Amino acid sequence: MRKTFFISGIIFILTISVTYLAYAWGFFGHKLINKMAVFTLPKELIGFYKANIEFIEEHAVDPDKRRYAVKDEAARHYIDIDRYGDHPFDSVPKYWGRAVDKYTEDTLMAHGIVPWHIDRMLQRLTKAFSNKDYTKILRYSADLGHYIADAHVPLHCTRNYNGQLTNQNGIHAFWESRLPELFSENYDFFIGKAKYISNPVDYTWNIIRASYAAKDSVLLFERMLNDKFPNDRKYAYEQRGATMMKVYAYDYSDEYNKMLNGMVERRMKEAVISIGSFWYTAWVNAGKPDLKGIEKITISEEEKKEIEREDQLWRKGKVLDNSGHSDD
Ligand SMILES: [Zn+2]
Repeated sequence: MRKTFFISGIIFILTISVTYLAYAWGFFGHKLINKMAVFTLPKELIGFYKANIEFIEEHAVDPDKRRYAVKDEAARHYIDIDRYGDHPFDSVPKYWGRAVDKYTEDTLMAHGIVPWHIDRMLQRLTKAFSNKDYTKILRYSADLGHYIADAHVPLHCTRNYNGQLTNQNGIHAFWESRLPELFSENYDFFIGKAKYISNPVDYTWNIIRASYAAKDSVLLFERMLNDKFPNDRKYAYEQRGATMMKVYAYDYSDEYNKMLNGMVERRMKEAVISIGSFWYTAWVNAGKPDLKGIEKITISEEEKKEIEREDQLWRKGKVLDNSGHSDD
C-alpha cells in the first residue's frame, strides 16, 4: 500500500516535470543565446558588452522568473497568432495602438504580445543608451535578448503551444530545451556580425512569421516519429540534482533532431544575430554614445516620470522613429 503510494507519487512528479518544464529555450538556452549575441557586436560596442557578459548571460532568464511575480509578464513571451484567423499576418496590426483599437488590450494580452513588447523594450534600451544609464543598458539588453529569443521559437507563436491540441503534450520543452541541451555543443556559432535594423517593427514581425511557418514541421515530425518509434523507448529517466526526471530519451531526441534537419540550431542562431542587431540598433539610434567610463546612475524622479510618459505614448501607438518623432 505504502509502496504503491510512493510509486504513484514518483510517477506524478515525473509527469509534471515533463509537462511544465516549458521555459522558452530553457535557462540553459537563454543564457547561451544572450552570451553568443555579445560576440556578434561591432568593435564600438563589443568591449562594453564583453566587460559585462556575465550579467547579460545570468539575467537572460529574468523575464521567465518574473512570470510568477508580475501579473502581465506571461503574455510578453509569446503570441498565439493563429487566434487571429486563417491569415493572421494580414489581420493583426503591427503597431500596438492600432492593434488595441482593433482587438482591445484584453484580447491582445490573452493571446500574447511578444512582437509589441520587443518594440517597447527596444525603445527603453535606446533611452537607456541616450542616458548612458549603465544599470538600465544591461538590464534592458538582457531582457530584450530574452524576448527576441522567445519570438524565434515556433511553439511560442501558436495556440497549440505545447501540442496539447494534438496529443503531443511536452513537445514545447522537448524542442526548445531538451534538443539544445543535448545537441548545442555541436552548433556552429560562427554567424557573422550584428547589423543595423532600419525597421525593427517589420523585422520583428518577420521573426514571428518565420517561427509560425516552422511550427507545422515541429508538430508533424514529432507525430510521425511517435507513430513509428517503440513506445517503451520514447522516454528515459535522468538524475537532475536530487530529482529523478522523466525526459525524452536520447535516441528519440536524436531522431527528432535529424528530422528537423538543423531547425533548432538555425532558429537559435537567428535569435543570436537578431539580439546583437537590436542592441546595436538601439545604440545607433541613441546617437552612438561613448560608453567608456560610464558608471551606475540611480534613476531620478524626473526620469521615472519620463519613462512612464513614454510607456503611455507607446500604449497609444505613438511609435517613435529614430529622431524621436511619432509616426502618426
Ligand atoms: Zn520566456
